[in-house]
Amino acid sequence: MSNEHILIVEDNEKNRKLVRDILQFKGFKTLETDTAEEGLVLARHSPPALILMDVQLPGMNGIDALAHLRADPTTQKIPVIAITASVMPDDKERILAAGFDGYQTKPISINEFLNNVDAALNKGKGGAT
Ligand code: MN
Repeated sequence: MSNEHILIVEDNEKNRKLVRDILQFKGFKTLETDTAEEGLVLARHSPPALILMDVQLPGMNGIDALAHLRADPTTQKIPVIAITASVMPDDKERILAAGFDGYQTKPISINEFLNNVDAALNKGKGGAT
């Protein structure tokens, strides 16, 4: 597999840095952007093993970005984890119903985050769903 990097789409600089630092410490390569629009371009150009998608973004939001990813054969099978500050149960259901492969709340807990990353990567490799 050539594309073992993880794409981070997050407009909050502190959170982006935290996610990047955790993933790089664990040996993952990362690519990052602060908009969904650029994230879609990057995902098509160089499909990552996993996408971490902030839900609330300037311009296109993460839920609409997921729909674009799923509509494109190049990106439709890439696992995508939603990252959101929301902890309301209704919001969680709405986000999972949109078709995300995982759900990560902010502020991020490192162990929970790494478990979510591992589960979504396994899903992307055709493991149990
Ligand atoms: Mn945001």
